Amino acid sequence: MIHIENLTKYYGKNCAVNNISFDIAEGQVVGFLGPNGAGKSTTMNILTGYLSSTSGVCSIDGIDILENPIEAKKRIGFLPEVPPLYPDMTPMEYLNFMYDLKKCTLNRKKHLDEIVSVMRLGGYTDRLISHLSKGYKQRVGIAGALVSNPKVLIFDEPTIGLDPRQIIEIRELIRSLAKNHTIILSTHILPEVQAVCDRIIIIDKGVIKADKATSDINELAESKKRFTIQISGPKPEVESFLRRIEGVGAVEFLSTSKTNGSLFRIQCKTGYDPRRLIFNAMAERQWPIMELNTLGTSLEDIFIALTSKQ
Ligand code: ADP
Repeated sequence: MIHIENLTKYYGKNCAVNNISFDIAEGQVVGFLGPNGAGKSTTMNILTGYLSSTSGVCSIDGIDILENPIEAKKRIGFLPEVPPLYPDMTPMEYLNFMYDLKKCTLNRKKHLDEIVSVMRLGGYTDRLISHLSKGYKQRVGIAGALVSNPKVLIFDEPTIGLDPRQIIEIRELIRSLAKNHTIILSTHILPEVQAVCDRIIIIDKGVIKADKATSDINELAESKKRFTIQISGPKPEVESFLRRIEGVGAVEFLSTSKTNGSLFRIQCKTGYDPRRLIFNAMAERQWPIMELNTLGTSLEDIFIALTSKQ
């Protein structure tokens, strides 16, 4: 559905995207990740026809975006980080406006009603957009992107600034859209990718550093355990003992309390889970473990693990 081949973009002498290639099959949900300045927006802007490339091929559904931009753009719905909404319109007015703007030919009422239902906007269609919560505004933005009935949806940081419940709802909606769309999602948030995407492409300095199934990323995240542990015992001895246990990587002292002992953050070596060894060792010395909390792997950890292998 999406074909990118040897795509390169220079801004003056600065190479923002350097000879990247990938294909995305119909129905796939792909996370596009990378640090600031990696080239994500540039790539997405080329894909959506807002920017021309310096060289290379970019096509949507077999249609070259440079040769036939109007036809290619018809197949894309784009939701920028801040959706271009008109706060003085109601969602229904906005969708009608988008319908006219996109010169949509589908049955107006049936099509817009369907979008309202898919985006679960029923009951909100006649309120002013300015009165809606950020989560609902985001739904209206996605609804607007759906009006042209595109095959491909591109989302730029779709859950930024939302509260946890709204984040879950938007992720569910994106997942449900995946039944009928090919989706690219740019995000910085690892759990978002894990929750929504089938595949992850990591870009850095304009070059693709990793292109993997989400299950592989999950495995990698699982193999890089981190936890905090609070141990009631003499701090210097406990700390140096922790460092000697097999599988323990970095040990970072966080705080100490009179009643519960010292709190440490432990980064395990890849593939190791030293929790049992720690439990046995501490029990032997009668230094009780007062608390142990596993921590999620951060996108930074995954990023470092993936890029350092290359
Ligand atoms: P990301 O979206 O991953 O943060 P961008 O695609 O915005 O990355 O930027 C990639 C590189 O291109 C950066 O070095 C950035 O400074 C540069 N860049 C982006 N847009 C422009 C522009 N309009 N003019 C000049 N340089 C730009």
